[in-house]
Amino acid sequence: MGTTRLDKVRADFLTDLEQAGDDAEAVEKVRIKFAGRRSGLLLDLTAALRELPKEEKRDYGRALNELKTLINTKLAEVKVQANAATVATEPSSVDVTLPGTPVPRGAQHPVHIVRRRIEEIFLRMGYDVEAGPEAEDDWHNFEALNIPPDHPARDDQDTFYLPGGFLLRTHTSPVQARVMESRKPPIRIIVPGRVYRRDSDLRHSPMFHQIEGLLVDEGITFGNLKATLETFLHALFSDDVEVRLRPGYFPFTEPSAEVDISCIFCDRKGCGVCSGSGWIEILGSGMVDPRVFEAVGVDSERYTGFAFGLGLDRIAMLVYGIPDLRQLFAGDQRLTRQFA
Ligand SMILES: [Zn+2]
Repeated sequence: MGTTRLDKVRADFLTDLEQAGDDAEAVEKVRIKFAGRRSGLLLDLTAALRELPKEEKRDYGRALNELKTLINTKLAEVKVQANAATVATEPSSVDVTLPGTPVPRGAQHPVHIVRRRIEEIFLRMGYDVEAGPEAEDDWHNFEALNIPPDHPARDDQDTFYLPGGFLLRTHTSPVQARVMESRKPPIRIIVPGRVYRRDSDLRHSPMFHQIEGLLVDEGITFGNLKATLETFLHALFSDDVEVRLRPGYFPFTEPSAEVDISCIFCDRKGCGVCSGSGWIEILGSGMVDPRVFEAVGVDSERYTGFAFGLGLDRIAMLVYGIPDLRQLFAGDQRLTRQFA
């Protein structure tokens, strides 16, 4: 007789559940009626097990377990369907027409932009881009470049010395020495890179960027240097800028020249950027000193060459009107975002 009651509960449950359909409230009522923890019919049926005579207990127990499984499975199924229906019909849950969450876009750093522009100009002129170590030895950074031990550039104030006789290169010129040691002329290279000096103020940073050029071949003259620099500076700024060479001094070139361009901001009338002079100092250059050639094993009787170097950060500051060099290296995205 016990199992008969179970059959009736089973039939009632299936009918009630079907009538509830996808009405969540009605389904919840069905759940409470049959599987409620305090007063559900399953509790009564479980309690009834104890009252049964021994010989009926086994069949009843098995049928009761089957009924429990059926009720719980059916209720779980209905719940899953109801959730799926809610997701599909609720307009605010997933709206595939909404724009996605924006990911901030990066931008090239102004120094990088300037470096790429300069590289492109020289690549078109047949130069190669070279690189070298930032931790250098004394030979390549100083000695090979005709910088004797008593030269001010070796002063502790300027150079970061590392253990083991190494130092952080104070210019990109050691790469020239490395290339000339390992390759026969003709050599046409530019060398962009980070350099280090113990210096920090509005116009100086302990780390900054240079780009260096070197051309070595037979019959290279100062006229080739002047023409190359004019072509370069016209391409970088504009064909209208005037280029002026002044005598200068660098240990590794002889003769040496400082190179100015007519002020791109005031057209030589005089302004704050050019300190009223109408000219802006832009780079250093000169004919490679024969002593440098001898130090790195290039035949100075057969070959001549020129070299030049400029500060990439200074050009970026000039081109983009950035007043403080240190802003370039502060890592503040408000600066770089302007170059997106
Ligand atoms: Zn000016």
